[in-house]
Amino acid sequence: MSNLLNARRLSSLYVLCASLWILLSDLWLGRSENTTWQVVQAEMYKGMVFVGLTGLLLYLVLRLHERQQSRQHRALLKGQERLSQAAIVFESTQEGVLVTDPLLRITYINPAVSRITGYTEAEMFGQTPRLLQSGRHDAQFYRSMWCSLAEQQHWSGEIWNRRKDGTLYAQWQCIRAIHDRQGEVSHYVAVFSDLSAIKRSESELLHQSLHDALSGLPNRLLFIDRITHALARSRTDQVSGAVMLLDLDHFQHINDSLGHSVGDQLLQQVAQRLRNTFAENITVARMGGDEFALLCEHCPKAEQAIAIAEQIRKLMAAPFHINGHDYSMSTSIGITLYPGDARTAENLLSNADSALFNAKSKGRATYAFYSQELTERSSRLLELARSLRQSLANNEFRVHYQPIHDMQDGQLVGAEALVRWQHPKRGLVPPGEFIPLAEQSGMIASIDLWVLEQACNQLQAWPGLRYISTNISSRLFCEDDFDIRVARILGRTAVDPRRVELEITESTVMHDPVAAQDMMVRLRALGVQLSIDDFGTGQSSLTRLKHFPVHKLKLDQSFVRGLPHDSADMAIARSIITLGHSMGITVLAEGIEQAAHRDTLRALGCDLGQGYFLGRPQPPEKWTEAPVDMAPRRLSACSGTK
Ligand code: C2E
Ligand code: MG
Ligand code: MG
Repeated sequence: MSNLLNARRLSSLYVLCASLWILLSDLWLGRSENTTWQVVQAEMYKGMVFVGLTGLLLYLVLRLHERQQSRQHRALLKGQERLSQAAIVFESTQEGVLVTDPLLRITYINPAVSRITGYTEAEMFGQTPRLLQSGRHDAQFYRSMWCSLAEQQHWSGEIWNRRKDGTLYAQWQCIRAIHDRQGEVSHYVAVFSDLSAIKRSESELLHQSLHDALSGLPNRLLFIDRITHALARSRTDQVSGAVMLLDLDHFQHINDSLGHSVGDQLLQQVAQRLRNTFAENITVARMGGDEFALLCEHCPKAEQAIAIAEQIRKLMAAPFHINGHDYSMSTSIGITLYPGDARTAENLLSNADSALFNAKSKGRATYAFYSQELTERSSRLLELARSLRQSLANNEFRVHYQPIHDMQDGQLVGAEALVRWQHPKRGLVPPGEFIPLAEQSGMIASIDLWVLEQACNQLQAWPGLRYISTNISSRLFCEDDFDIRVARILGRTAVDPRRVELEITESTVMHDPVAAQDMMVRLRALGVQLSIDDFGTGQSSLTRLKHFPVHKLKLDQSFVRGLPHDSADMAIARSIITLGHSMGITVLAEGIEQAAHRDTLRALGCDLGQGYFLGRPQPPEKWTEAPVDMAPRRLSACSGTK
């Protein structure tokens, strides 16, 4: 522009000077009294001066132009050099540079973008950055990003994207809106760096600070954090748990006599055994030295804590192989239960510590509870569990039979076989006490089969009784050859299978409904009857129930207790009876303790019933009048208050 102005001014000046020159020189020549020859000479000089001045002017203009040209050329070269430097920087930088047009179509990416995202130039051009969206951010996140771009022309922050291979990664990203001369957005330029390495090292650091280096287990800090969370959950979900502290007995001797390297290997093996055994919902931690800890989040009863402590003791009893040698080790365990014993992590740990001290002072290789009462109970249970192992061989079990009556006409129709343990010192132990122990040790399967065989023999002695039912534990029911074992007993006792009923609890059935259905079909093929015990307590899926080949539902006694006054119990009892009948299934009510229970259930159309009001469980010799006839009859002597 300034060049054009200069050229215009110069040419105007030239026209002015040239016109003045011609005018003034002609005026001067006209006035002078020179001869013609002199005039011709003057004209010639005038022309020559004019040409000379014009030439000079032309020379000056050209020089000026030339200098301008070279200045522009130099600026151009400088610009090109700067551009090529920028291109080199873009190509070699570790940061991804991505440019889009105003419609967000990608128009440029540098190689770092391909390296970070896995997409090639060809795959990205024309696409929008949505191609990289991770799905981890909500609409609000993108809204505030676009708001900031619209108002401040830039945005920077951490954003999660998805690579071509599907993996998520975090990147730090700066986006800038570029405007043209009219002020419209012409491009968006995003510059970003991959934060994966930083995130990785951050999480490695976090892991290191919360885990023990030798064993890889959570350390004290993380363990306390887990307890704090578990306590918070127990407050909201009403779940109880246990914290256990484990100390390896005489570990110091190993360190002192065999060296720290053997000691370290032993600790690693202990950690590995614990980790392999307690995978889910039990946190295993190393608190330091030879002290380990367990947080059992679903451990509502002391019995369950005992079972875990027993499991640990067995786990540690197996020898440890180190450098070709076997080392034996025992453990002392301190147990505290929450929320009963304490409500803070610190208090729980200090409780567990004093329980551990008790266990050690009891002679090590044992466990103790924080509360004295629980410690005594656990010793009793331990003692009971020990003597239970011999009980079957010592013939200490007895079977009692509880009568089952027709609710409509009051006739005796059957009996439920219920096991009792005749303990040599403690007398008759009820099933509630020893069945959990038998379940833990696996003995329950043998007990159930023994009871079944006794019941079959009893049926032969009571030909008048329509049927006897026996309880089947989930352990036995889930064994693959359960039906074969039942068939053997039926064969041995030569009893009519239709007079045998197997009671399976609702929770057993619902544990694995498909396998349960398969086993039920196999049992039905033997001709035996099937019933679902404690119905209403195990969250049955009604659609599943339709497919189970069961004959009977046993309405749990917890729903009978409130009849007829409790409206919820009334509603449950009514709907279970209606449900059963709609599927052609007989309904039996358990726990009938009063005439009111019986009358209500009778009015609701319940088919069968059992309970203390109708008759308590009795040993067979106490059934005063054995049902010898095929026609069922009422038993008077064993009918209690009835
Ligand atoms: P269950 O199968 O639901 O048996 C009914 C329980 O209710 C029996 O308790 C019985 O004595 C009790 N009962 C009957 N009528 C009344 C009543 O009117 N009021 C009250 N409060 N209770 C009543 P028991 O004999 O103590 O058995 C408890 C549980 O132990 C049984 O519940 C069953 O789950 C289990 N059990 C008993 N014998 C065996 C067995 O041989 N094998 C297996 N696996 N479990 C058994
Ligand atoms: Mg039962
Ligand atoms: Mg029951």
